[in-house]
Amino acid sequence: MKRVSFVVFVVLALASAPLVVCPQTENVVGSAMDKVGKMERLRQSSNYQTMLDMTFPEFGAAVTKTVVMLLPIGSIEEHGPDLPVVTDSLLAVAELGDVQQQLRNAGIEAIVGPPLNIGITNEAGDWTRDGTYMYPGSLTVSADTFVRLYVDLLHSLHDNGLRNVFLVSGHLGGRHVKSVARIAEEANREIAGMKVYYLVESERAAQLNLIPNASLVLLDRAQNFPMLTELLGPGTEQAACAHADGSELSLMLHYYPNMVRPGYRKLPEAPPSHFFAAIIAGDATKNPSGMGGLPFDKASAVVGKKIADYRTHRISETIKLLLTDRQQIHN
Ligand SMILES: [Zn+2]
Repeated sequence: MKRVSFVVFVVLALASAPLVVCPQTENVVGSAMDKVGKMERLRQSSNYQTMLDMTFPEFGAAVTKTVVMLLPIGSIEEHGPDLPVVTDSLLAVAELGDVQQQLRNAGIEAIVGPPLNIGITNEAGDWTRDGTYMYPGSLTVSADTFVRLYVDLLHSLHDNGLRNVFLVSGHLGGRHVKSVARIAEEANREIAGMKVYYLVESERAAQLNLIPNASLVLLDRAQNFPMLTELLGPGTEQAACAHADGSELSLMLHYYPNMVRPGYRKLPEAPPSHFFAAIIAGDATKNPSGMGGLPFDKASAVVGKKIADYRTHRISETIKLLLTDRQQIHN
């Protein structure tokens, strides 16, 4: 009790003491705050700006400078008890904001396209209650609707002056990924004068037997499970997926810390085999948490930044290679 009273006394004394800051300290603190403010303004003005944030004259002006678009594709699906159902969409937007900045540093302007959020979350077919679709809050659309929706969007972007579009998906469900590949293929067939590339993680492409072609471009080792294992520690199983796990949690702690629910540190490990067993069988009781992948106890914003830096560098470099003909930037 005595100890508690002493602690309370010290806290109260500190709280009521006048704040004395010497001029030197004030300068250091002031300049640190300026830096934080500048960083924050930079994030708001470029990194996270999609075309949804633009006015129409701003968008009109942007397409006079570039015909390149980075189009984030996401999903609305369960992401465990600690992350919101819009996680995949948010991460695709945030990563492409970083990619936009990295391309800008290399002299390439790009516009980040509108996130539509909806993706495909079931696996056996339209409206089957498997995949993550069997969990509350996971939404889906049929594969044909999904493909048509995005091909129409690409038509509309073409009418708005865009000519080179890079699709990047934050969601890596099997039917979803195959459907994004279809979007790129069908758009390239239907829309004259537009080039559409789906940049897909090489590990996921290999799992789904997807062969690269003119519209399907591999992001070489973009998931990098050995790196994730090094950063987050080995789980009880070899890493084979990263859904609502320590790596996605770290990315969210880096990009959107306010959206992560408190208590995430206490999450139990969710081994990949439990996740796959549940989503394939359509039986949520095999994996009630809905999560699957790397462990949580080392998850942090610092780890998230390392993963984000690695991934966004991979994406930027791939786009730079595809845009070696600079004509493609200004058409
Ligand atoms: Zn996810």
